[in-house]
Amino acid sequence: MSAGRAGFAILLAVLAAFGIGCNGSQEMADAGVELTSLEDSVRAAVLTEVWEPVPAVVTPGRAGAPPSDAIVLFDGNDLSGWSAEDGSDAGWRVEGGAMTVVPGSGSIVTRRGFGDIQLHIEWRAPAEVRGESQGRGNSGVYFMQRYEIQVLDSYENSTYPNGQAGAIYKQHIPLVNASRGPGEWQTYDVVFTAPRFDADGTLLSPAYMTAFHNGVLIQNHAELRGPTVWIGEPEYEAHPDRVPILLQDHGNPVSYRNIWVREIAGVP
Ligand code: MG
Repeated sequence: MSAGRAGFAILLAVLAAFGIGCNGSQEMADAGVELTSLEDSVRAAVLTEVWEPVPAVVTPGRAGAPPSDAIVLFDGNDLSGWSAEDGSDAGWRVEGGAMTVVPGSGSIVTRRGFGDIQLHIEWRAPAEVRGESQGRGNSGVYFMQRYEIQVLDSYENSTYPNGQAGAIYKQHIPLVNASRGPGEWQTYDVVFTAPRFDADGTLLSPAYMTAFHNGVLIQNHAELRGPTVWIGEPEYEAHPDRVPILLQDHGNPVSYRNIWVREIAGVP
């Protein structure tokens, strides 16, 4: 608290002790009465204090651990929160607190669906560099099985920028390249806002992503033009309000760990 704020708080306390409330201040404001005294100013200031709703208490995680209200999707032990896209068991390997793509086993999806969320996910491209451009440490995080933020080993690895790590694939180049080297753990923290459709399937509002890569802002409220497509222009198609998150098998043994989400209130 600044000295000014402390003084203001003391003044409020003194006024309260003398029974001076804000009765009449609204009438003064409504009438456009000019505030001439300090007392009037305090009364006017009290009018703009908002006391509810009181935010829920969330205990933040320490050293990368999930906060108390997070839904943990992978804690390093098993793939119980995940399946293959056809609903059968996920075919990825769990080892050393991480899950790793088994090339050819297919992408995996969360067993539950999500709309607007905050996502934390950690990923690691193989330490042994193989391939180049899009063939090096390629995977991806797809919100609602449609909207991809690219996972790629983009450390000294040239490719088209709207397809490098942190790109909203083929739609938004990341603001900077904040990649760590091959074999190092990296983080994405993403705020995803789902698109809205009306009952007829008409788009009411598009999807948005804000993303941090290793704590560095790389997407700032970027508007998506539709689902991720490899060829051609994206086009929105109506889908449910809650859809699973997908992690992509792109043929490279990329690993993931410490995956959690927080649902953002207000999903229809
Ligand atoms: Mg990909």
